[in-house]
Amino acid sequence: MKIAIYPGTFDPITNGHLDILERALTLFDQVLIVIARNASKDPLFSETERLDLISASVKNHKNVRVDSFEGLLVDFAQKKKATAVVRGLRAISDFEYELQMALMNRKLDDTVETVFLMPNEKYTYLNSSIVREIARLGGNVSDFVPPVVRIALERKYKAK
Ligand code: ADP
Repeated sequence: MKIAIYPGTFDPITNGHLDILERALTLFDQVLIVIARNASKDPLFSETERLDLISASVKNHKNVRVDSFEGLLVDFAQKKKATAVVRGLRAISDFEYELQMALMNRKLDDTVETVFLMPNEKYTYLNSSIVREIARLGGNVSDFVPPVVRIALERKYKAK
C-alpha cells in the first residue's frame, strides 16, 4: 500500500489543492492530507474548521484521510508509514522554497521522497491568501473553492 502525505496550511482548502490531491490519487493508494500546525501563522480558520472544510471537500474520495500534526514532517511520515510527501508547484516562484524543503527533508530522512505535481494551468495563480482577500472584499470565489468553503468564507467575513 503506497501512502503519501500532502501537508499544508489549507486556510482554506481551494480547488488548486483539490487538483493536486486528485493527481496524487492516481499515483498513490492513499493520500493523507495534513494540516501542519505553524505557530508563526495566524490562520483565518481554526484547525478544527480547516479539518472540517477539508473533510467535507474530499468526502467523495474514499482513499483520502485528513489529519493534523506538529513537529518534523519526516517523523510524521514515518509514523503514518507514508513513503512520499506531495507538494504542488504553481510557478518558478514556488520552486526555490520547495526545493530547499525537499532537500532538507531528504537529508533528515532519505526514505521519504518528495513528489511535485503541477496543477491545471487555470489554478496556477490561485492560493489561499488571494481567495481570503477576494472573499473579504465581497468578491465571488465560487470558481476557486468548493461550495462549503465559499459558504464558510461568507460567514466568516459577515461575522467580522
Ligand atoms: P503552505 O502554507 O505550505 O504554502 P498551502 O496550504 O498554501 O501550504 O499549500 C499546500 C501545498 O499545496 C503546497 O505544496 C502548495 O504549493 C500547494 N498548492 C496550493 N495552492 C495550489 C494551487 N493553486 N495549485 C497547485 N498547488 C497548490
